[in-house]
Amino acid sequence: MDAQTFTDARAQAGAASVERLRQVEAAIARAARDAGREPDGIELVAVSKTYDADSIVPVLAAGHRVFGENYVQETKGKWPGLREAYPDAEVHLIGPLQSKKARDAVALFDAIQTLDRPSLARALAKEIARARDAGERVPRLYVQVNTGEEPQKGGVAPGEADAFIAACREEHGLAIAGLMCIPPADDPPSPHFALLAEIARRNALAELSMGMSADFGAAIQMGATMVRVGSAIFGARG
Ligand SMILES: *Cc1c(COP(=O)(O)O)cnc(C)c1O
Repeated sequence: MDAQTFTDARAQAGAASVERLRQVEAAIARAARDAGREPDGIELVAVSKTYDADSIVPVLAAGHRVFGENYVQETKGKWPGLREAYPDAEVHLIGPLQSKKARDAVALFDAIQTLDRPSLARALAKEIARARDAGERVPRLYVQVNTGEEPQKGGVAPGEADAFIAACREEHGLAIAGLMCIPPADDPPSPHFALLAEIARRNALAELSMGMSADFGAAIQMGATMVRVGSAIFGARG
């Protein structure tokens, strides 16, 4: 393909992403109204993992500002440049985080949605304190709950969530903004969303990050305040 054809293909892909973004926004608003909720109460995290900066720019240019990424390394490569052009963009970490990358993660992300074990809470508390002392902004934190208790998935077990949230708050001095879950691929998602909502209620947590491309409607029905949508906006990941 020659350079012009490549540029045209890029522009078309960007326009298609923006059109799908608008469709997802409309579907979120419909699901909110169907649930008797205000559409403004649901934040859309556009999940841009595996998509390069050129694919993200059209969505930023269209005015969207909140994005999700799964990998520290990938975010380090893509986002510093994008943030220069769009300083009010927000990036959330929604993938597993190794404790040794806590410093990078605190510097890179506006929210970390995958806090799920005491060693990570300790590492984040240390790096957040360091960033605060340096006058830097610090990320909001979400505890990930492994509602399906799947061994390959991150997240604290539902039965251990209350104690872990209490330890984050009391032992590590961390403010917790809310909860996040990824239901098992083969289960009906609603019982998992209901379980997450119940754990949040018990722990006086206002925010619920739940629902992806395939099930954000059900998540909104169950009280999601944040949905994380990737492929329905950017297209199937290669
Ligand atoms: C990839 C991913 C998403 C988005 O998934 P889609 O099915 O592409 O919408 C949401 N949440 C997490 C944690 C993810 O890893």
